[in-house]
Amino acid sequence: MANLGNPTRTADILKKYQFHFQKRYGQNFLIDSHILEKIVQAAEIGSEDFVLEIGPGIGTMTQYLAEAAGWVTAVEIDKALIPILQDTLAVYQNVTIINQDILKLDIAALAREKNGGKSVKVVANLPYYITTPIIMGLFESHVPLQSITIMVQKEVADRMQAGPGSKDYGALSLAVQYYAKPEIMFFVSPGCFMPRPNVGSAVIRLVRYEENPVSVMNQEFMFALIRAAFGQRRKTLVNSLVNAGTLQVTRDRIVQVLKEMNLDLSIRGEALTLGQFAEISNRICF
Ligand code: SAM
Repeated sequence: MANLGNPTRTADILKKYQFHFQKRYGQNFLIDSHILEKIVQAAEIGSEDFVLEIGPGIGTMTQYLAEAAGWVTAVEIDKALIPILQDTLAVYQNVTIINQDILKLDIAALAREKNGGKSVKVVANLPYYITTPIIMGLFESHVPLQSITIMVQKEVADRMQAGPGSKDYGALSLAVQYYAKPEIMFFVSPGCFMPRPNVGSAVIRLVRYEENPVSVMNQEFMFALIRAAFGQRRKTLVNSLVNAGTLQVTRDRIVQVLKEMNLDLSIRGEALTLGQFAEISNRICF
């Protein structure tokens, strides 16, 4: 099957199979070969790598991945795309297609079965409606991950990479940065997709830390604290944590902890680093 990374061949396939885009599945297919090459380069795929692709669509990026990687497993929710993928990927012996919802798939079991538990590289042009659950699911499950190289909405990429003091900094930044080092690789314009999305896109690479950069005694509590801190981002940290009502910790205790850490009592959550959130969490909940 000829390379699909251009508008004419993509349109031909869609016509041949009378495929209709499903908005609810976030279907915007890549039609720019230059961008496809750049994604595979950014993901640093080599012939020893096992790649998990989420949402292969008609198989455009899968073709590029299959050429570069040792093995590719592509998980696609839309069953109408499966016969298309079987056709467009027929020449590749190293590709497995799974018709499943990625959020329901046991990816750790898949990695064990297909790759002997060795680490996996995830590469995807993600369906934007479930970007955060997919990423957090990958980090929080016990999937042996090396890196995640994904196309996401530009604003989401900015939020993942943002640091303290930036307007984009928030719970997503901290959740991602607890597990991985984020790096925005490049931006992609709506014209590189069929149909065109209404938003700009970016490719971001998240390289998984071997060890989390901060040590936290109660991870669940730290993330509850972070969510509460950003729940009312214009309020002081003390007020946000007390008002959230989810932490069962008194105003006095929070004030005491901030004083112990020499932090101003009027500080807002958006000024705190991941290390400071970890320390507050460890001091409150040990
Ligand atoms: N990779 C293709 C490309 O770049 O041209 C298609 C990318 S498109 C943005 C997202 C793909 O994810 C679609 O094929 C869509 O059907 C699929 N998808 C949406 N939700 C999914 C889910 N929960 N699990 C697996 N695939 C999903």
